[in-house]
Amino acid sequence: MPEFKDTIPAAGGKVEYLYDSERGIAAKISGTGFRAIYQVALSIDGKHLLATVSAGGIGSTSICPQPSVLTFVQSDEQGMWGRNCPACRKYFRTDHVMGDTTCPYCYVIATDLAFVSQDQRKYLTACYDAFARAYLQKKSTAVDMAQISDEKVAWHYSEVKQQFHFVCRTNGCKCQTDILGQFGYCPRCGRSNGRAIFLQTVDSELTRLEEVKATVSDRREREDVWEKMTVDAVSRLEALGKHLRRRLLRFPLTAHRRKELERLSFQQLTNADRLLKQWFDIGLLEWAGTAANPRRQVRPPDVNFIRVMVQKRHILIHNGGVVDQEYLDNTADTSVQLDERIRIRSKDTKRFLALVRDTATNLLDNVEDGFSEEEPI
Ligand SMILES: [Zn+2]
Ligand SMILES: [Zn+2]
Repeated sequence: MPEFKDTIPAAGGKVEYLYDSERGIAAKISGTGFRAIYQVALSIDGKHLLATVSAGGIGSTSICPQPSVLTFVQSDEQGMWGRNCPACRKYFRTDHVMGDTTCPYCYVIATDLAFVSQDQRKYLTACYDAFARAYLQKKSTAVDMAQISDEKVAWHYSEVKQQFHFVCRTNGCKCQTDILGQFGYCPRCGRSNGRAIFLQTVDSELTRLEEVKATVSDRREREDVWEKMTVDAVSRLEALGKHLRRRLLRFPLTAHRRKELERLSFQQLTNADRLLKQWFDIGLLEWAGTAANPRRQVRPPDVNFIRVMVQKRHILIHNGGVVDQEYLDNTADTSVQLDERIRIRSKDTKRFLALVRDTATNLLDNVEDGFSEEEPI
């Protein structure tokens, strides 16, 4: 598999505009090198993208707006196409190019044509130019990808490998996408990939915890692991929260509320829950439930435990793990005193990781399904 920032060449294939003095100009694609293709109908002056046209099998007829010029966009060698979001401008690759598209980064939803990348526009123009040459010179012309040796030729394009590849796990979707970063929305169905990634990571952390418990005997060494696991769990939740916030920011909001939401810290878990509850009637500690997905709630003793662990994480990061007055004021923890170095035990880490998983699941359910019209049970 190519790595991040490798250039992935467009697959080989030949596009021709066949001139016939009787029947006019027919577009044809041939060759064995290409993986996938889609067609775009351009306005007769070549200036506007009119529609994406589905490419049928051999012998089929494509229905496209009239008059228009049919052009082709070949996939790269992995069967995907680069896209640019019309809102955030960010680049990604996907095999979903027909129909409405959701930006994996900012959750804007727009038509497929709105996501056609700048490089692809150049390629479409090259197709159009070949058509125009056929029309003006009354002879057949070709746009042959395989013969291109100079990468700077305007109509040669290749897609850039992004950092993270995912296949959508939502029922039957299977859409493939390459994005920067890790969390993203599926361009086809709009569901987040966060659930699978987050739960898998927590599970592997819990497995590692048991392994360290069984194999590492040095107390200090073990405690280092529990501390790091505690710190990392919240960092991951913060990343997931920021990703899901993108979807919440698509709601109509006042400028003031928008700013507040953009500033919201998911590290302060219980505080984030309180504010989201107040603003959207959703949160991290509770899921109202549907017929298919029953109600859940984090129990009050667990909420308190989360609060203490988040404060412990705070002093681990900012005060070398030494108890300060702020910690004592925020937690009412009587098991430690001022200036004492805290200790985190494996059972605390285990309990905390499981609770972070629960709060992440609540947040995902709330953001993705909490605004549906289905009656809560
Ligand atoms: Zn976007
Ligand atoms: Zn999907």
